[in-house]
Amino acid sequence: MKYSKAFIPTLKEEPKEAELASHALTLRAGLIRKIASGIYAFLPAGIRVVQKIEQIVREEMDRAGAIELLLPVMQPSDLWEKSGRWDEYGGELFRLKDRSSRSFCLGPTHEEIITHLAYLDIKSYKDLPLNLYQIQVKFRDEIRPRYGLLRGREFIMKDAYSFCDNEEELDDIYEKMYKAYSRIIERLGLRFKAVEADTGLIGGKSSHEFHILAGDGEETLIYCQNCGYSANMDLASYALPEDSTSGDEIITEIEEISTPEIRDIESLSKFLKVEKSETAKTMLLTDEKGGIYAFVISGDRELNMAKAEKCPGKNLRLYEETDKKFAMGYIGPVGLDAEVEIYIDNSLKAVKSIITGANKKDYHLKNVDLQRDVDIKAYGDFSYPIPGDLCGKCGSALKIEKGIEVGHIFKLGKKYSEKMDAKYLDRNGKLKPFIMGCYGIGVTRMMSAAIEQLHDEKGIVWPPSIAPYLVSLIVTSSKSEELSDAGEKIYQQLLSSGIEVLYDDRKISAGIKFKDSDLLGLPIRLVIGKKYLESAHVEVQYRKSGDMADISCDEIIESVKDFKSKNIEI
Ligand code: ATP
Ligand code: MG
Repeated sequence: MKYSKAFIPTLKEEPKEAELASHALTLRAGLIRKIASGIYAFLPAGIRVVQKIEQIVREEMDRAGAIELLLPVMQPSDLWEKSGRWDEYGGELFRLKDRSSRSFCLGPTHEEIITHLAYLDIKSYKDLPLNLYQIQVKFRDEIRPRYGLLRGREFIMKDAYSFCDNEEELDDIYEKMYKAYSRIIERLGLRFKAVEADTGLIGGKSSHEFHILAGDGEETLIYCQNCGYSANMDLASYALPEDSTSGDEIITEIEEISTPEIRDIESLSKFLKVEKSETAKTMLLTDEKGGIYAFVISGDRELNMAKAEKCPGKNLRLYEETDKKFAMGYIGPVGLDAEVEIYIDNSLKAVKSIITGANKKDYHLKNVDLQRDVDIKAYGDFSYPIPGDLCGKCGSALKIEKGIEVGHIFKLGKKYSEKMDAKYLDRNGKLKPFIMGCYGIGVTRMMSAAIEQLHDEKGIVWPPSIAPYLVSLIVTSSKSEELSDAGEKIYQQLLSSGIEVLYDDRKISAGIKFKDSDLLGLPIRLVIGKKYLESAHVEVQYRKSGDMADISCDEIIESVKDFKSKNIEI
């Protein structure tokens, strides 16, 4: 492609709305344009990246034995009513009506459609196992569309759905998809982590998320380099470091202390000049029936709602004051309303003396011994790990890193097949609901996640496998006929060797060409300039390493091909 004929509208200025580097760079490098909140147009250089990611995904799905199809974006509401999600899904679902007032939605995911297909066409255990996938546009009216392609309202996803006769078949497909996802991300040349994830209220046996590691990622990942344990923040268990248990056995009376207008741990630790870990916070949660539960955790930790819910086994939310009055901001486990069940986080199990709220405005209690002073319903793990915590499995130090979720694989079981009556005849001639799995990977999110992981102050640093072009060819002065002729000749040679090249033939300064080339981040830059005039050499610059070399014109094709074969895995 000649730059003069291309449509790559780069921007000099940092776009104001961009909070993350990847968001700014996708806009600045002329890859995408915002059309409405969370809705983007893919410009020519951007769509090339999308197509390359899709191709890698497609190849790996095929390799794993999945079969491609295409499901409709418009989905009739009656299928969603059958699954129960027409009411459950809430505001994220884009709903619309046709001219005859029939209800539809724009697919945010395709379980309903695929389960309906299975209901129609998969009749026997002999047709199983079956794994079907598509690469399709999805619509989700996200509460906060942000970070460009990372959280859009219209985005491209690869989603696969498997149908099995038994758990062993499901385990086998799940394993294959796990490997395929790992291969996809390896081929993209990105650092990633697969972590165990919470199956949430859907239940199910197993779920893993795939995260691209990036300092500004939305998700926090926990892993152990020693034994390989990994989990997302919601699910992560941990062991306490040795020194967190207080050996202080001296029995001291509870003492009330005046803490006027001190309502949170931050101000309490400052006011009393103690570490946050010397205090405890008590959070009140409530269930649908109005039951109230107190969770007491160490002051330096945060309550994990997903873990907390599991203990009383109810859907819980933060308590908002109704008829029952509590001294909000000063709540503690000692002297709390007798009807409130009290759960204590394991992080406080061995602590002998702690500061808590006094259940009285402007007061806290010192020297609280939870075991001695509190009627405890149960101890449990109700908090997130923090730096310094140890692996619950092997006791080594846990690592905490930020990531961007790009993929999610999930053992669904019979959730959809039962509700939607999708059954087949098993070996014994009995009708049975399919055992299902679902597997999603965000194609457009992957594009931004790659940029988020690989960029520098000058711009994008594309991994060669998904760069819009492999080579950026620049002639330093388009006014020089000799250089222009050489540029044209080398451009043609590259094209006829099947190398994707963006030839900057624009009649503008070399400075701007270099800036745009850095911004666009193509892996190899070939510069035809002074050295060409002196000795028929071109300068090769590698975007990622910054390495440079002079090579003769005869060596160009070989050198580019050599780079490609070393860097693009097929
Ligand atoms: P998140 O927690 O980030 O909202 P999710 O759990 O809703 O993700 P899934 O429903 O499992 O995501 O969808 C599968 C994949 O689709 C995700 O791993 C992600 O890569 C992609 N994806 C989900 N929502 C969006 C979005 N709003 N914009 C772009 N990609 C998305
Ligand atoms: Mg979501």
